[in-house]
Amino acid sequence: MNYNQLADLLFPDITGNPLEYEEIYQQRKLPAGAKVTRLGPSPTGFIHLGNLYGAFVDERLAHQSGGVFYLRIEDTDEKRQVEGAVETIISSLEFFGVTFDEGAALNGDKGDYGPYYQSRRAEIYQTFVKQMVSLGQAYPCFCTEEELNEIRAAQENLKENPGYYGKWAKHRDLSLEEIQSRIRSGQSFVVRLRSQGTHDCKDEDIKMISVEDGIRGTLTIPENDQDVVLLKANGIPTYHFAHVVDDHLMRTTHVVRGAEWLPSLPIHVELFHTLGWPLPIYCHTAQLMKMEDGNKRKLSKRKDPELSLDYYRSEGYHPKAVREYLLTILNSNYEEWRMENPDAPLESFEFTVEKMSNSGTLFDLDKLNDISKDVLVKLPATELCQFMIDWAKAYKPDLVGCFEGREDYLTKILDLGRSGDKPRKDFIFARQIFEFISYFYDNYFKAEDPYPENVSSSDVKNILSSYLKSYDHEDDQSQWFEKIRNIASDNGYAAKPKDYKKNPELYKGHVGDVSTVIRIALMGRAMSPDIWEIQQILGEEKTIERIKKVL
Ligand code: GLU
Repeated sequence: MNYNQLADLLFPDITGNPLEYEEIYQQRKLPAGAKVTRLGPSPTGFIHLGNLYGAFVDERLAHQSGGVFYLRIEDTDEKRQVEGAVETIISSLEFFGVTFDEGAALNGDKGDYGPYYQSRRAEIYQTFVKQMVSLGQAYPCFCTEEELNEIRAAQENLKENPGYYGKWAKHRDLSLEEIQSRIRSGQSFVVRLRSQGTHDCKDEDIKMISVEDGIRGTLTIPENDQDVVLLKANGIPTYHFAHVVDDHLMRTTHVVRGAEWLPSLPIHVELFHTLGWPLPIYCHTAQLMKMEDGNKRKLSKRKDPELSLDYYRSEGYHPKAVREYLLTILNSNYEEWRMENPDAPLESFEFTVEKMSNSGTLFDLDKLNDISKDVLVKLPATELCQFMIDWAKAYKPDLVGCFEGREDYLTKILDLGRSGDKPRKDFIFARQIFEFISYFYDNYFKAEDPYPENVSSSDVKNILSSYLKSYDHEDDQSQWFEKIRNIASDNGYAAKPKDYKKNPELYKGHVGDVSTVIRIALMGRAMSPDIWEIQQILGEEKTIERIKKVL
């Protein structure tokens, strides 16, 4: 067979030479040890925690080493594309602090290794496939869907491995004449790899190969024997071929991707080999798992809203908290480092792939929430205030009016009880924070808790009217509390809890019940930060108004 003639027959319009691409996409000039990583999302519109998890690994590896992190859009599957998906990818990742140095960007491509959309690289892929055909490494296959189904059925019948390989590869050895006549009659074809793997052998004779995985160490896997499709009938490559060509030409050093790609690794190894290119370092990350009824299971798009990145944004998780949490699950030594370096920026932690888990990574919302509390308590109130405003604008527009133009008020609210050596750690995410502080806003104020059982409704009235009479907004905290004690004893409640404990029969309750009554009148709830401090923020007018309302 004259393979050159075959190559020209299949690709009459491709006149370029692969070497030209090697020239255009030179080795990158980077410091020794610099890593080049990429994110290759499909623009399906759904961006999930797994994408962020992987992107974070890419970002850390590249930026820690003085390398490059780029974005390549893997849009070879037209059916799965969604309008605006690229914008979503870029903006969601940016929100969580993951930024690209190069690649697809909002205003066109950025960088010298593009185009960064696979759909715009057809000519490049075809040039390389044409070369493979001319070397006898690839061939056209005209099999129809029915023919492939027949092959599968026959394999099932004989209990042989499924796929297109060896003796089952029907069109592997078509003659040039046969191919010519099929093309002339308008039959469409895909181009397949002519795999050099040994096939038609017993399972125990399958050749094993070794690959060094950055996370998993030495992987021993069976060599590929499948004549996989490289180019689809529309001239667009499969993931396998696009991955190999792109990561070679874009000079990727580390391919970080999910464990779901492990089964196709043998194909990629054979392709790199056939093309005569060095393998990048593969880093196959672990699946994200969650605990359910004592069992670990994969996070699922259908069952777990927390898989979607949008969940974290709409709930109002602060990106710093999410980043902090991700590092905790990514590197087993991170928490220890954090304990030793409580105030260091996360970027100064040296992230390594070796410390990554290679079995399922457990994702735990409760743990994220705990970390978020620690992160938020360190965030200056002014920054938290701006964060709340930005969140409200995007996800709770009815609050914007409460926040904007009243930033001082919100900042004071957010800062309540956060200084001192035992700062309050009740803030987790914006939506929850607002629920926590909503009583500061009249439109959202509601009576949530009942008055204490041991306080009769006439006592509630008496306590509140004495409170109103004696109220002086200028009182300091101890003057204020002295008045509460007096109100307690005037109404038959112990001024000190310990007196009550000694002789409970002498009292209706103690000063704590009296302050709870005031608290519920002012805040609608039995638990809150310090009443005096809250009154200082609410202001004299609103404090008095709320008490009066109950009376
Ligand atoms: N487009 C692939 C995906 O979305 C990328 C896999 C890779 O990073 O190689 O899963």
